[in-house]
Amino acid sequence: MISIVIPVYNEEESLPLLYEKLSKVLERLGEDYEIIFVDDGSEDRSFEILRSFAEKDKRVKVVRFRRNYGQTAAIYAGFEIAKGDVIITMDADLQNDPEDIPLLLEKMKEGYDVVSGWRKDRKDPFWSRKLPSMIANWIIARVTGVKIHDYGCTLKAYRKDIAKRFRLYGDMHRFLPALAKRFGAKITEVPVRHHPRLYGRSKYGISRTVRVILDIFLVKFLNEYITKPLYAFGGVGFVLFSLGFLIGLYLSFLKFFGGKDIGGRPLLILSALLILSGIQLISTGVIAELIVRTYYESRGEKPYIVEETINVEE
Ligand code: UDP
Ligand code: MG
Repeated sequence: MISIVIPVYNEEESLPLLYEKLSKVLERLGEDYEIIFVDDGSEDRSFEILRSFAEKDKRVKVVRFRRNYGQTAAIYAGFEIAKGDVIITMDADLQNDPEDIPLLLEKMKEGYDVVSGWRKDRKDPFWSRKLPSMIANWIIARVTGVKIHDYGCTLKAYRKDIAKRFRLYGDMHRFLPALAKRFGAKITEVPVRHHPRLYGRSKYGISRTVRVILDIFLVKFLNEYITKPLYAFGGVGFVLFSLGFLIGLYLSFLKFFGGKDIGGRPLLILSALLILSGIQLISTGVIAELIVRTYYESRGEKPYIVEETINVEE
């Protein structure tokens, strides 16, 4: 079975055509499917339109949020209720093309867990959209080691067991392939079509750039240090502390053996600051270790995922 998850925020004009095109493509595949629309607190008629689809077609499922929680929450909610073995996300604004879904599914059959759409010929403004996005994609790929070209494309396919593992907060929907790496997913990309937005307005402006940069740090941390936060914080803390300590040692030497007055030296302040922040960072690391342990224990989760076992009893 295939699940399509679509976040919807004020997309009343696009919905009828989207539903029509999507149904046609899915019908043609000849497999069981469901279309999950998550109405992210739309203020226009989106929900009424979705309700009318669902009344005629039991394969259409609709979740309506109380208010606007953002695209990440909408995708998360869709993943939670999806029943398909493959879960595909796409935008509601017809910028993604339902005709590309078979392409993603083909690629999945080669054994990938995540297939990401790549808007090779993206139809968005250059300076405000394509350029910032190119830079962001380049950095994310370098930092996370998941080398795909287009994190921002919503059109992506996930195998169920990967999609169901995500716990999504903030704006993490942009980083799903990078996060999937944590679960040992095999990830690839395929070029997909992209269309200009015909109806409604984009929900994002240039301000998302700052958030993306902050999120890159978070993803790096989640991917590499979630089970050993002490190394991330403590590593930096240790370097700062050692530096401060050495400077302090040098000043003490001047004072006690050289008889020099060190009270007015900027180095003294630097040394004190470095020692203090070093200690702070190391203790933050220890506290983070405790939090991580609570996190895994409270959810009954292990910090590893088993692929398969042989002769091991449950
Ligand atoms: N969206 C949403 N909640 C939001 C913002 C956006 O569900 O708070 C949906 C929106 O309806 C669309 C998709 O997320 O289906 C992508 O949004 P948009 O097209 O505005 O982003 P862009 O293509 O401009 O990056
Ligand atoms: Mg769009």
